Amino acid sequence: MNFFIVMQGKTYEEAKLANIVWCSIYDNSGQTPHSWERMNEVRKGDVLFHYVKGDIIAISVAQEDAYEGENPAISSEEIGHMFQSAYEELSVPLNIKNHFESIQPLLPIKYSAFQQNGDGNQGYLYPCNEMLALKLLELIGDDNIYEENEEQLEFAIGMIAQKERNTLAPVLIETEAEAKVKIRKGQQKFKKQLAPLWNNQCALCGIELPALLRASHAKPWKDATDEERLDPYNGILLCSNHDVLYDQGYITFDGTGKIHISSEIESIDYVKFSIHDKMRVSRVEENKKYFKWHKRNIFKDNKNKREQD
Ligand SMILES: [Zn+2]
Repeated sequence: MNFFIVMQGKTYEEAKLANIVWCSIYDNSGQTPHSWERMNEVRKGDVLFHYVKGDIIAISVAQEDAYEGENPAISSEEIGHMFQSAYEELSVPLNIKNHFESIQPLLPIKYSAFQQNGDGNQGYLYPCNEMLALKLLELIGDDNIYEENEEQLEFAIGMIAQKERNTLAPVLIETEAEAKVKIRKGQQKFKKQLAPLWNNQCALCGIELPALLRASHAKPWKDATDEERLDPYNGILLCSNHDVLYDQGYITFDGTGKIHISSEIESIDYVKFSIHDKMRVSRVEENKKYFKWHKRNIFKDNKNKREQD
């Protein structure tokens, strides 16, 4: 199961009424933008978040694999990518900007549905990694799923009727569980294959206590393809201290395995973090492209610091 974010705007109502998602294949210049092409990737059981004017207003589950066909909602013979999808409208829409602080860190660097200011992007269908999906599901659940409360049920007949029709809760719960299992299994497999490559010890300080060891991705889950997520060369075994420093970009390694330490850490503090600027990890050739990606995209270098200042 994969997740997607679909940007629908004024086509939302007609698509929802017809229980479909439909998108043209060619734009005015005869090209197929990546966010239109992605419609091809949708498979039965995939879950979509429907974004309209600042809010996620529905989620849906694809009822079939995407195929090419006419849009039944409008009288046009244009062939597009489409599939049937079961819409569940939210009684309380999720406003992206209001929650952007918790959403922003989970956005991929490439092909993000949202801009850095929280606005939606112009395209049609965007990927949504499992970690971002879990956050969206959690926020949607907070506002849309209520604990059973006997007192409320006694007084509000209307609410009972609404509750009986409420098919959103099971979709949220099942989807969330499936995403969690996918992440957990992926992380376990990744660590199992990566740890022996680093002799089952922190590559920087040599800590061997298993409870303290983390398989740290160089190209993080949110930015990696399914294949890259499980590639044991896409990362490094680190203790929890060094894992957080690496994950947050306070340290990085170049193509040769040499450490680079962010200027956000004062050199007087290096000893507290058990780091020094002569450190080097014994990387192999296969690590190189991932290490370089981390240094380019995650490392908090001087340039970033200047921008923040
Ligand atoms: Zn360590």
